[in-house]
Amino acid sequence: MSQQVTETTLATKIHSFSSVGFARAKRLAKLGLVTARDVLFFFPRDYEFPAPPAKVDQLREGESASLVGEVTDTEVVSRTAGKSVVGVLVENDSGAVRLLFFNQPFRAEQMRTGQRVLISGTPKLNGLRWEFVHPKVTLISSGEDLPKPVILPIYSLTDGVKQPELRLLTSEVCERIADTLTEVMPDSLRQSATEHLRAAGIHLAQPLPEIRQAIRQIHRPDDIDNLQAARTRFVFQELLVMQLALAMRRRKLTTDLLAPPLPTSAMIEARIMNRFPFELTGDQRRVMDEIAADMGRQFPMNRLLQGDVGSGKTVVAIFAMMLCVAGGYQAVLMAPTEVLARQHHRTLSNILADSRVTIGLLCGSLSAAQRRDAIEKTASGEINLLVGTQSLLSESVQFDQLGLVVIDEQHKFGVAQRVALRGGGVDPHYLVMSATPIPRSVAMTVFGDVELSTLRDKPPGRGTVNTYLAHDGWKDRWWSFVRQRLDEGRQAFVVAPRVAESVDDEDAEDVSSVESVFRELSEDKLRGYKVGLLHGRMSNDEKQAVMQSFAAGRLQVLVSTTVIEVGIDVPNATVMTILGSQRFGLAQLHQLRGRVSRGTHAGHVCVFTDGELPPDENERLKVFEQTSDGFELAEADFRLRGPGDLMGRRQSGMPPMRIADLARDVEIVAVAREIAQSMIDEDAELSAPELSELRNQVMRRYGKRLNLGDVA
Ligand code: ADP
Ligand code: MG
Repeated sequence: MSQQVTETTLATKIHSFSSVGFARAKRLAKLGLVTARDVLFFFPRDYEFPAPPAKVDQLREGESASLVGEVTDTEVVSRTAGKSVVGVLVENDSGAVRLLFFNQPFRAEQMRTGQRVLISGTPKLNGLRWEFVHPKVTLISSGEDLPKPVILPIYSLTDGVKQPELRLLTSEVCERIADTLTEVMPDSLRQSATEHLRAAGIHLAQPLPEIRQAIRQIHRPDDIDNLQAARTRFVFQELLVMQLALAMRRRKLTTDLLAPPLPTSAMIEARIMNRFPFELTGDQRRVMDEIAADMGRQFPMNRLLQGDVGSGKTVVAIFAMMLCVAGGYQAVLMAPTEVLARQHHRTLSNILADSRVTIGLLCGSLSAAQRRDAIEKTASGEINLLVGTQSLLSESVQFDQLGLVVIDEQHKFGVAQRVALRGGGVDPHYLVMSATPIPRSVAMTVFGDVELSTLRDKPPGRGTVNTYLAHDGWKDRWWSFVRQRLDEGRQAFVVAPRVAESVDDEDAEDVSSVESVFRELSEDKLRGYKVGLLHGRMSNDEKQAVMQSFAAGRLQVLVSTTVIEVGIDVPNATVMTILGSQRFGLAQLHQLRGRVSRGTHAGHVCVFTDGELPPDENERLKVFEQTSDGFELAEADFRLRGPGDLMGRRQSGMPPMRIADLARDVEIVAVAREIAQSMIDEDAELSAPELSELRNQVMRRYGKRLNLGDVA
């Protein structure tokens, strides 16, 4: 037995513990607990804090509480056939409560009159008196201090594994091997991290503790200060490891890949700017400068351009593409839908009319001949700018000399890594655009290897949008408002979540479907107006035709699914009705709303729901009603729902966090990022001997995932 104790290491399998055994080990494995190391780093998900002793008048039915007092009376209330009830009266200067114990006759001996006790349990009101049935009782000798309250860890559980079992196991493993742990973060690093964290406003009653102490305090905290310091240490460590990996990757992209330098000049810029029919906003100019600086280097730009719907991202992309063509290379723009690709193609053709630049289009609905033509001219270099959908990714598309890839509405693709588009033997520059603003912490983590540009100003003259969260009684008034706008010559969108009622969908009945909405509106509220229908099950030609009729004003109302969410530009459309809005995410709602802020007229969005909503859903829609800033919304969405899709898709490469919480720990992320960057600037491969353990962790967790290769 004693031998087993000395031999326990981090790698010891827990089934060899006498307290575990095979059956239990099997259940624990479901929690990922196989070795002693796993157990040690299985952090509590929460803690049970003992409530401070309460006063009698603060007690609440059904809420656990503790209380200190003196026993003033003890009686055995009844005793029949071996059954007993002991009643104990406990008093302090705030009042008295009664304790009841069934079939525990020893309680009468234990709690004699005059004994001080600390009790805890869940009280019930019986008449005018609070009663505790079988409370936990701690005897306090006279003159003794109150016992120190114990903070208990709460672990995630699985079938057949109970809380006390895990508490015992973690205690045991801590006892046995906490002292064999080697420190990952040297003293100096912990010290400087402590200073940075404090400067960032994070409360630390003590410096970040070294690992042996931290691991004990996280499982069995002595008090709240120790707990907080230990948790912060591990959160910081986890984020630091991630940030080091990202910093290494950013560095690697600049040293391993070769891109064509495409420098700008005053002449080139003047020629490009002259083609835009408007003044650029300050933000657009700033972002163009950032992009021009990136593209002038001989390693690929890797930049994400985020900007709210209508902030003018396309113009920035056109600038980058023209810069690329001016440098003698081809550029490609990929859009998530054919409608959008065609729109971009039109915009480019207008701006570049009567220039020598050739623009090609490649998307699913082309005829075989058109397609062959586009592919040939791309391969020969005759096409300078190619616009298309995902069909660009097909293998037959080869470029002569590709210098720049632009991806529009990146969040629609879920493209996790750089798209495999190349030609001409170099790595193209890469510009990704997204109208779903990325919360700060996500930008610093999941997108941590990407440079970020942001358009916050809107182009001048953009209409404002009013958003109304509708109540049931509003429908008539709203539709009459819509008719008024139509009579004034404006156009309207109506958005509904589904295509048709599907019988096998259990909640189909309360889901508005575009087809029935279309029928109802055309026959009733909007009778006499020209109403069109657009949804994802229509063929591309049909969709295209409907969109064009709407854009040209031949249709006044477009009833649609979220097909219109992405990028459609019809400035005359100023009214939008969103039905079944609880089906949509905040980001999606905001994208939809962006469709009616394109012109000079104020936009109006009315949001209806199917039936009554639970409070949290309602909260979400209220946020939408009150906030028109996409960045604020993104942060709110992130708080309310977690990172969701945005992160999920791109995250494919990222391991889940064990203790850090990207929404909650955003300040710590920022500190970790700053420290990681300066560490990598100083020692790119973390080759200092005292960092070797840290380096191992980085490589173990992220080496493969981020393709860090063998940095050593
Ligand atoms: P985004 O892609 O960011 O949603 P777009 O690039 O499609 O936005 O721009 C939205 C509209 O604003 C387009 O009609 C575009 O021509 C116009 N626009 C862009 N920049 C400016 C500007 N600086 N001044 C005036 N209009 C602009
Ligand atoms: Mg756009």
